[in-house]
Amino acid sequence: MGKKIKHAISPTRDEDYSEWYQQAVGASEMAERSSVRGCMVIKPWGYALWENISGKLDEMFKETGVKNAYFPLFIPLSFFEKEALHVEGFAKECAVVTHHRLEKDGKGGLVPAGPLQEPLVVRPTSETIIGDSFSRWVSSYRDLPLLINQWANVVRWEMRTRIFLRTTEFLWQEGHTAHADEKEARQRTLMMLEIYREFSEKYLAMPVITGSKTPLERFPGAVDTFCIEAMMQDKKALQAGTSHFLGQNFAKASGITYQNAQEKEEFAWTTSWGVSTRLIGGMIMAHGDDDGIILPPRVASSHVVLMPIIRKPDDRGRVMEFTESLARELKAQTYHGSGVRVEIDDRDIGGGKGWEWIKKGIPVRVEIGPRDIEEGSVFVGRRDRDHKKRESIPRKRFVEDLPDILDEIQQTLYDRALAFMEENKKVISGKKEFYDFFTPKNADKPEIHGGFAVSDWCGSDDCESTIKSDLGVTIRCIPFDSEPTGGGCVCCGKEGRHQAVFAKSY
Ligand SMILES: [Zn+2]
Repeated sequence: MGKKIKHAISPTRDEDYSEWYQQAVGASEMAERSSVRGCMVIKPWGYALWENISGKLDEMFKETGVKNAYFPLFIPLSFFEKEALHVEGFAKECAVVTHHRLEKDGKGGLVPAGPLQEPLVVRPTSETIIGDSFSRWVSSYRDLPLLINQWANVVRWEMRTRIFLRTTEFLWQEGHTAHADEKEARQRTLMMLEIYREFSEKYLAMPVITGSKTPLERFPGAVDTFCIEAMMQDKKALQAGTSHFLGQNFAKASGITYQNAQEKEEFAWTTSWGVSTRLIGGMIMAHGDDDGIILPPRVASSHVVLMPIIRKPDDRGRVMEFTESLARELKAQTYHGSGVRVEIDDRDIGGGKGWEWIKKGIPVRVEIGPRDIEEGSVFVGRRDRDHKKRESIPRKRFVEDLPDILDEIQQTLYDRALAFMEENKKVISGKKEFYDFFTPKNADKPEIHGGFAVSDWCGSDDCESTIKSDLGVTIRCIPFDSEPTGGGCVCCGKEGRHQAVFAKSY
């Protein structure tokens, strides 16, 4: 009685959100820091999750006619230089290969030798190298549209890194399309954004706001950038995916031209769009609790863990038999188009097993002991509920109900995240209220602030920059179909041209 409630992750989210994140990721065994600065090792539990995420997205892309291909990791510097804004935007974070050989230095070490005539940039994104191929693949309007996606790794030399959210090397997909006309290219840009929204909400259970970026926040070289933005549990925004309408900028830089039906030479219109392993970081921060991460069932590395409890050696035979036959029955069930994914954990390590799986975020845990077998039931814990709230369910009913239980968990996670975002999103029209909203009340907790402010903006770079330097707050997006609220620009007070979502962000 009166015993303090203990949580599996220390510190808790309230105590130190940022440290909670690092600890929760570590405890989940999804990934770890590597010996290479800023790079992560994705462990099997995290990679299985990425395979489920990428597998589903790949299916959704292909349904719209997109095909996969692969392009070089290295981009000749001259390609990179072709689009001025693009090179300016990425210059500060490029890793560059300048040599192609190692030589002994005479002191037992090795030094780079054989300088390259033209340095190679390790791709931070592939518009220019893919544009080079497109310029050869496209000659007539009949070759268009060209709808290509690449699953790859990219490198951006980040100064401050955080596992899954911002790492020097990360995994992603980048879609690149070329079209004969502007309207079709714009439609494709929005179509892919809609896929990201749908995936994020239906599969990651992560509600998002969709809209366009301001000119200052656009992808370097793009005409328009659209994004999905999610709210994390510290009320900061996470840009979870972007889709860019590139106009003819990259087609002109790479020479992607085609002959139209009148045999006139025209520049193509291109798009690019991407999501990355950052989605995993977002998902963890949207759903995790003080006991660790919580995996949404539709993408979970695995759905259910069976933990046989063997107290006496004599029990082993029948407990394992029960466990293995239960696993077979569960695997035969389908959940969202594939079999239920089952783990059996028969390690003899006592009660600690349950906590390990809680920290891994597996949706459903099942304990099987001799008494459960006698009763023909299983003892079930759900990750969306308190770890103490477990229940005995007849085996047959559990097998039949598992897909529904998984969908219930999926829905609970989404509803919780949506309620949290709605609670912490506020329409604000006055400058004072706006500054108060983002100013920490407690100097010891500078990370605490209001959340998302929905406010009018006059459209000037100046106002946007002032707010950024005063408060560290940026315009996350201008939501689709939004009208100015009528309160005037939250910075200068002039008439608002857009309604914008302002927030601190990752
Ligand atoms: Zn203004």
